[in-house]
Amino acid sequence: MSKGTLYIVSAPSGAGKSSLINALLETNPTYDMKVSVSHTTRGMRPGEVHGVHYNFVSVEEFKELAAQDAFLEHAEVFGNFYGTSRLWIEQQLNKGIDVFLDIDWQGAQQIRTLMPQAKSIFILPPSKDELERRLNARGQDSEAVIARRMDEARSEISHFTEYDYVIVNDDFDVALIDFKAIIRAERLKQDKQAAKYSSMLAALLAQQ
Ligand code: GDP
Ligand code: ADP
Ligand code: 5GP
Repeated sequence: MSKGTLYIVSAPSGAGKSSLINALLETNPTYDMKVSVSHTTRGMRPGEVHGVHYNFVSVEEFKELAAQDAFLEHAEVFGNFYGTSRLWIEQQLNKGIDVFLDIDWQGAQQIRTLMPQAKSIFILPPSKDELERRLNARGQDSEAVIARRMDEARSEISHFTEYDYVIVNDDFDVALIDFKAIIRAERLKQDKQAAKYSSMLAALLAQQ
């Protein structure tokens, strides 16, 4: 069995990363794809559940975990700390499960250095106005938080050239089709197919 693929998904806040990843996982009938649940020191939003959206921890707990090398990568984003759990990711990939990381560009750079085989996808909003409208429509952040996220959107977007794939999330259904197409094509790569169909290939290639 071949190892799962690690997908890094980044975007300015509000571009639709979480919605696309959730829609992908909901429409996938098997259990061969999972999203990584990060640790964060950010306060919980209405409707968020500990252990589902994030593992919500204090700054002290976060620093303790970082000191224990529990994070594959970690970064400060919008004044809060975020980190990806090392052990869980390695376990899933070893089971052949594809894992999605919803992380910022700083985390993406760290993961690329550690795991050059990871694939990265950048999600763009169709315009600044639409990005602001979505952040407001989500209705979960204060005006000050939204203003800060809009200010930092340009800096996040400036890193899109570091990614393997770019999706413009204008029409959601089209963006979801594009997202699925990337994963499907990755799964059809020669080395993945050779591992998946090893016995069939052995039979096809056997001498009479
Ligand atoms: P949203 O994705 O805009 O809804 O906002 P979040 O609060 O969920 O995420 C804030 C920022 O932190 C985004 O830029 C994320 O990509 C980033 N982020 C989330 N989880 C992680 C993580 O585990 N590691 C790193 N490096 N960044 C993360
Ligand atoms: P992110 O995880 O990138 O911060 P979200 O997935 O939370 O973004 O999306 C932000 C808001 O925009 C949500 O309210 C979501 O329902 C909405 N949204 C996402 N994609 C689209 C789209 N293509 N058209 C309109 N609204 C969208
Ligand atoms: P939010 O606070 O809106 O949930 O997330 C804000 C940003 O933090 C998003 O861009 C998200 O991708 C990023 N983020 C969430 N978890 C992590 C993480 O574990 N590591 C990194 N580097 N970024 C993260």
